[in-house]
Formats: sequence, structure tokens, C-alpha cells
Amino acid sequence: MSNDCLFCEIISSKISANIVDETKNLLAFQDINPQAPVHILIIPKMHIASCNDLNENNIHYISEMALMARRISDAENILKHGYRWVINTGNNGGQTVDHIHLHLLGGRNMAWPPG
Ligand code: AMP
Ligand code: ZN
Repeated sequence: MSNDCLFCEIISSKISANIVDETKNLLAFQDINPQAPVHILIIPKMHIASCNDLNENNIHYISEMALMARRISDAENILKHGYRWVINTGNNGGQTVDHIHLHLLGGRNMAWPPG
């Protein structure tokens, strides 16, 4: 829990979100400004600011997030046609919320390279 963190406020229900999935350690909710027909954010309930703060004690959240993304992709029917996972980091990476989050994007064809 970090003060002034938007996603910590979603975790503590101070701000509402459309919750898609939840486990003891993770929350998944609809992105408020979707960039694809499926655009879901998966976050650890533990405040980790970015990939820069990953270490051997908290790296297990990443594998839990990956498994949740896999499960949600199944539920959202995007396994067959494909999807994209994105974790933006820092200014050059385009990160705007300083609480690590995995974007799960699907339901349309994605361009490469990203903008
Ligand atoms: P990033 O730019 O990678 O840090 O992604 C932050 C994401 O959070 C953006 O895709 C925003 O649309 C999304 N976002 C911002 N505020 C909210 C909110 N209150 N509920 C859900 N998603 C949000
Ligand atoms: Zn936070």
C-alpha cells in the first residue's frame, strides 16, 4: 500500500473499477481507456512501483500475473487468435501509473513495432 497510488486505491476500494478476476495476491480489472476490445490490467496487491523494483523476493508475482493472464485469455476467448502482454516501464516505456501492471490486450490485430 502506497499513499497517492491510484492502483493501491483501487485495491482498497477507495476508487471503483470493473474487477475481472481476483486472487489473494492479485487483482485484474478493465482498463478505463481500452486500446483493444479486450484490455485488462493485472496488478499485484503489493505495491511494486515498476519492473525496476523486482527482486528475488517479489518476482513470484510476475509468474502469478502471467498465469492469471492465461486464465483470463481463456475466459475472454482470445487464446486462438492471439493477444499481447505489455508492461510499460519508466518514461521511455510510457509508464503513467507507478504500480506495476501487466496490460492484457486482445480482440484485434496488433501492430509491430509499437509506437
Ligand atoms: P501505463 O501507461 O502502462 O502506466 O498504463 C496505465 C493504464 O491505466 C492506462 O492504460 C490507463 O488507461 C489505465 N487507467 C488509469 N486510470 C485508471 C482507472 N481508474 N481504472 C482503470 N484503468 C485506469
Ligand atoms: Zn500502488
